[in-house]
Amino acid sequence: MNMYKSTDLIEFIQFFSTSDDCLRYIANIKWANNLFTCKKCGNTNYCKGKQNYSRRCTKCKYDESATKGTMFERISFDLLRAFHILYALSVRKKGISSYEIESEFSISQETCWKFRKKVQGIMKSSEQYPLEGYVDVDEFLVGGPEKGKRGRSHGKKKLVVIALERLASDKFGRSYMRYIQKSSAEELRPFFNAHISKDALVRTDKWSAYATLKDEYSNLEQIESDDGKNFRELHIQIMNFKGWLRGIHHHCSKKHMQGYLDEYCFRYNRRNYLNTIFHKLTEKMVFNLTINGATEVG
Ligand SMILES: [Zn+2]
Repeated sequence: MNMYKSTDLIEFIQFFSTSDDCLRYIANIKWANNLFTCKKCGNTNYCKGKQNYSRRCTKCKYDESATKGTMFERISFDLLRAFHILYALSVRKKGISSYEIESEFSISQETCWKFRKKVQGIMKSSEQYPLEGYVDVDEFLVGGPEKGKRGRSHGKKKLVVIALERLASDKFGRSYMRYIQKSSAEELRPFFNAHISKDALVRTDKWSAYATLKDEYSNLEQIESDDGKNFRELHIQIMNFKGWLRGIHHHCSKKHMQGYLDEYCFRYNRRNYLNTIFHKLTEKMVFNLTINGATEVG
């Protein structure tokens, strides 16, 4: 198939000028290399179906549309709009706010919100590519003043744990974030296990909960945070995330926090693969890829 590989908006507009172009693109991803297996009877022979790009099983006559079983099925606006929103969510450095989606694409707030939630669902990490090398970990609060003792109730503030690969010469690697209730070992350990390689050279501050993880993470080193000065890269990353969230969504409830963390990390971790990020996201939409079947990078 002719895979879309560009970050140029004009090229995008020419490549996808109608909803039919988008439907064809979906069909090409879904039935790559012309491989077809009937969902009803397993037969692999097909003929042209009733709708554009749909396929009809030659044995049981089941007619399957290109969007059937994908996350493009049953969306209440046209595919061209959906493709433009996916493009903005993946290629634009800061994605797109729900307000912008609403006004730029004439979609109601509720519809736009539902679609964004769907997309955030497939932006979730597959947990197949843990962070490696030098990895810094800390927690931060979203939606309120920073100060406050650990282990206490955070009120309306949201507590987030973040891990970031620190590369040579001040460069940042990949990053993951997770919304947690408390900075306890019970909540920190699953985050470590999901996102940090056991061989990584992890650095954290002196918080006691991190010490308990040394049984699995033998290279974990605890240093004084010195108000974040010793975790400079990590704190730049936290500031960038908070700035983005403020610009995109003013009041992010606890329920929706993880979706925004996933969305941010999805784009951030693929910032060096922008040519293919739109295609990868569309592919995940077509195959309905959620946490266990996704491809992470590339
Ligand atoms: Zn069949």
